[in-house]
Amino acid sequence: IVSIYSEEQILQMKEDDFSYHLHPTSSIPDMEAWGGPRIISEGEGVRVKSVEGKTYIDCGAGLWLNNVGTGRKEIVEAASKQMEKLHYFQSFNGYTHPLAIEVAKKFAKMVPVENARIFFTSGGSESNDSAYKLARLYFNLTGRPEKNQIICRTKAYHGVAYGATSATSLPGFWDGFRPLVPGFHHTDHPHCYFCAWGKEEGSCDYECAKAVEEKILEIGPEKVAGFSAEPVIGTGGAIVPPNGYYPRVREICNKYDVLLIADEVICGFGRTGKNFGIENWGVKPDLMMLAKGITSGYIPMGAVALTGKIYEPIKKHGIFMHGYTYTGHPVACAAALANLEIVEKENLVENARIKGEILRQKVRALDLPCIGEVRGIGMINGVQLVKNRETREKFAPSVGFAKRVSFLGWENGLILRPLIDDALQLSPSLIISETEIDELVEKLETSIKQAWEEYLANDEKTL
Ligand code: PLP
Repeated sequence: IVSIYSEEQILQMKEDDFSYHLHPTSSIPDMEAWGGPRIISEGEGVRVKSVEGKTYIDCGAGLWLNNVGTGRKEIVEAASKQMEKLHYFQSFNGYTHPLAIEVAKKFAKMVPVENARIFFTSGGSESNDSAYKLARLYFNLTGRPEKNQIICRTKAYHGVAYGATSATSLPGFWDGFRPLVPGFHHTDHPHCYFCAWGKEEGSCDYECAKAVEEKILEIGPEKVAGFSAEPVIGTGGAIVPPNGYYPRVREICNKYDVLLIADEVICGFGRTGKNFGIENWGVKPDLMMLAKGITSGYIPMGAVALTGKIYEPIKKHGIFMHGYTYTGHPVACAAALANLEIVEKENLVENARIKGEILRQKVRALDLPCIGEVRGIGMINGVQLVKNRETREKFAPSVGFAKRVSFLGWENGLILRPLIDDALQLSPSLIISETEIDELVEKLETSIKQAWEEYLANDEKTL
C-alpha cells in the first residue's frame, strides 16, 4: 500500500471535512466512529484508491453510474477539447450548439419512446421534476387541468428536488422537509420474494399490477396524470418486477389515459443488459427520465425523453417555461457522446447481461445461511440478507446487519453499499472481467461470513 499523502495531510483533510463539509445522506456519527470520512482520490477501471493508498473494487460503480470505468482517456479528451472550443452556451432563448443537437438526435433514436424529443437536465432529480411538470403541462394544455395527480410506488427513489422528493418513498427522505409537493401518491411495489399480497410467483394474477389500477380508481382516473416507476427499483433494493408487470401496467395506463413515466436514471444506457430497463419487457413509456450512465458520471448530465403526443400541445402552445442553466451543457454533451461510443464499441450492454448473470450465479453458490435472495438483471443486483433463509425472516432493523457487512467490506477491499432492508448493492462497472468478479465475490463472502459470526457471537443483537 503506497500513499502519495503523508499521515499529517490525511489527518488534516479529515479534520477539514468535519469542519467544512456537509455530506449528502451520510451518517455523521458513523463518520465520527470511523475517525473521519473515507477519502477516495483516484481510480482505474472498476477500482478506486483511498488517500491511504488502499485499493477497493467499487461494487456500486459510484452511485450506479460508472458504466465504462474510471480513467477513460477518450472521454477526458472529448470533454477537454469541447471545453477549449466552447465550454458553455445556453439552450434558452432559441440558442443551442452542435453537440446538443447531435446528442438529442442520438437519444431520440435510441429510446423506446414514440416520436421522442429530448429535454436536457443536469441530473436525475431535475429529470424527475421536469417529467412531472411535463405530465401536468400535457393535461393542462389539452383541456384537462384537473388530471394532475402522480402515482408512484413504495421503495421508490426518484431524487431530492421537491417533486422528486415527493415521488420518493424511502425512510427519512420526507422527515423535516414537509410540506411536500401536493398530488403525489404511492402504491405497493412488486417484489415476488417478499410479495405484499402473499402470492407465489407464477401462481398469481399480478396483484401488484392490479394495485396500480386500484390506486387510479381510488383517486379517480379523471384526476390521474401519470404513473411513475423505476423499471428496476435501484436504491430501494435492486428489485426486478415479474415479467408480466409492466405490460399489464401499460394496458392499465392506456385504459385510463394515464401517462407511463419510466425513471431510467439507473437503468438507462445499458445497466440492465438492454439499452433501457423497460425494454426488458417490451414496453414503451410516454416519458423517460435519464441521467447517470449518460456520461458514466464523468460530468453531470440528465435528460427527459417525451413522446410526440406530449410535445405536440407544447408546440401549439409555443413555449416550455422550464429549464436549467446547464441544460444541454456542451462539455457534458461531448462526454456523453464519447461515453456512449465506448459502450457501443466494447459491447458493454451485452457485457452487463452476461457478466451480471455470472455474478449472480457465483453469489448464489456461496454457502452462507444468511443469504436469502440474490436478485437482479444485468448489472443491477441485490443480495438480500435474512435472519432465516427458510422462513425469509428479516433481521431486526436494530441489528444493522447489511451495514456491518458493508463496514467489513471496506476493511476487505470493497466499496459495498447497504441498501434498505438489509440488501447489498452489487452494480459494478459494466466493464468488469470474470477475474474481477471472482475477487469481488471472494471478498463479499469473507465480509458476510465475518458479520454472521459476529451476529451469532453477539447474541443476535446490534452489530
Ligand atoms: N432517479 C433514480 C432512479 C435514482 O436512482 C436517482 C439517484 O440515485 C435519481 C433519480 C436522482 O438522481 P440525482 O442524484 O442525479 O439527482
